[in-house]
Amino acid sequence: MLSKENSTKGPKGALSGGPMHDATSGMRFISDLGRSLLFTVHPKKVANVVSESIRSGTGASACAVAVNLQHIGLVCSVAETGASREESSFKKERFRRWLSLLPPQVSINNDNPEKFFIDGGEHSLEYVAPIHIEGTVKGAVIVGFGDAEDCTKEIRQLVDAATQMAAMSINLTSHYEATINSSITEAKEEHRKFTEAVLDTLPVSLYVIDRDYNIVMWNRHREIGIQGMPRDEVIGRNVFEVLAKYPKGKLSREFERAFRTGKIERIEQQTTDNDGVTRHWLVSKVPMRDEKGEISHVITVGEDITMRVEAIHAVGRAEKLAAVGRLAAGVVHEINNPLATISACAEALESRVDEGVFGTSPDVEDLREYLGLIHSEAFRCKSITNGLLDFSRVRTGNRNEVDLGEVIRSSANLVSHQKRGDNIEIVVEIEDSLPAVKADEGQIQQAIIALATNAIDAMPDGGKLTFIANSDGNRLLIEVRDTGVGIKTEDVSRIFEPFFTTKEVGKGTGLGLSVCYGIITDHGGRLNVRSNPGKGTTFSIFLPLSK
Ligand code: ADP
Ligand code: MG
Repeated sequence: MLSKENSTKGPKGALSGGPMHDATSGMRFISDLGRSLLFTVHPKKVANVVSESIRSGTGASACAVAVNLQHIGLVCSVAETGASREESSFKKERFRRWLSLLPPQVSINNDNPEKFFIDGGEHSLEYVAPIHIEGTVKGAVIVGFGDAEDCTKEIRQLVDAATQMAAMSINLTSHYEATINSSITEAKEEHRKFTEAVLDTLPVSLYVIDRDYNIVMWNRHREIGIQGMPRDEVIGRNVFEVLAKYPKGKLSREFERAFRTGKIERIEQQTTDNDGVTRHWLVSKVPMRDEKGEISHVITVGEDITMRVEAIHAVGRAEKLAAVGRLAAGVVHEINNPLATISACAEALESRVDEGVFGTSPDVEDLREYLGLIHSEAFRCKSITNGLLDFSRVRTGNRNEVDLGEVIRSSANLVSHQKRGDNIEIVVEIEDSLPAVKADEGQIQQAIIALATNAIDAMPDGGKLTFIANSDGNRLLIEVRDTGVGIKTEDVSRIFEPFFTTKEVGKGTGLGLSVCYGIITDHGGRLNVRSNPGKGTTFSIFLPLSK
């Protein structure tokens, strides 16, 4: 027992085996404490171990260990006889004030229980040993003795030694805890960044809302494009407020369905940007469940499927055009023969009129005029059927290395004579040393002139016609751009069809673009259109470069 020598009323300490001045039992107490502290990694546990060991080891009626740590705050543990670790009996405010009195010192309070740190105990004396950590007093070990005489010099020395051990241990464990905490926060932060990077890298636009319809995630792709908004401006906000441009009823029904049914829903949408470019989107609403299996969030994923949709349309168009081409070839063949007969008959009759076979009555003049009409109308029919043949013919024209820059310049020159009035400005922008393309020069010229003629038709009040040619190393791009009336969205898909025209009867045949389309696809190229009604149209021809 480590207590006052020869004491009869000394408390029974756990550290038995000899009087308190017994150096062996003192040593054992310290080494036992050291051993228990070896396995203690949290400051709070250190405080528990130390307060309990000192209380039982010294036979004191109470012992408190309190220390104020950075990042953690006030850690305290109180061990009392009977009750165990009654933290509430510790006067924290008083202790904080004591800590702020510099320098707090070893003290013994045995006259005024008002000044005790441990409240409501049975002790009549408190011994206070400051805990020094890295040069400053951060806390104290407070031992309450029922009998003032129990607080002997030897006991105090032992408490001091235990206090030093506590200081060391608390210092170490608080560093350990700080490191663990910061590495946990770091790991969490790393993980968050990684998840964010994954979501930003996905080639889809994505955002997530919670059950209160607040946006909790918004990826990089959702920030760009015409519907895009910066992440910082939308996170935490109500989705209907952020997406105010969308019809609210429709949007809320979609979300509500996703929350209610838990099923993924896919919707196709179309957008048109300021340049008249139409994009197709596949928008999916994906309900997300928490660990309890309840739907906690809805993920909205928008995927750009423009290429896919256009490819499907292109295939459909090509098939349709091929079918029309075959039909046209048959019809043209049937019509050309009677047309030739009509023309020949009209010509024969005209020469008879000239020879005077029908005399010179005024009726003969009518005859001459009607024959002329028959002749010229038959000729017009012939040019239409020839156009159709152009479109339907399998073109295996002369393919040579062609300088398309030259072809474009001469086409531009040709149409410049065709333009009505001087109010159309013609601009030619051709990249230097344009790579060669294997092509039929005549056909490409026909295609470019067809596009340019349409462009001029689209600018009755004047405007600008631009020819552009450049290359990205793989293919050659030719653009014919106008600032004309543009093409109505509903017409865009039809303009390449033979006979589709919006022009007056006699002005347009509706064959220009379909022939153009046939020529370009025959060359292994592509013909695209972008149009902005009221602002203008751009036709782009892509041709493969010759190897
Ligand atoms: P046509 O010129 O005989 O009408 P096309 O096949 O050349 O036949 O063109 C079909 C239709 O496409 C035109 O009638 C017009 O409506 C539309 N179109 C073609 N090019 C343009 C353009 N640059 N601007 C506006 N509309 C155009
Ligand atoms: Mg035309």
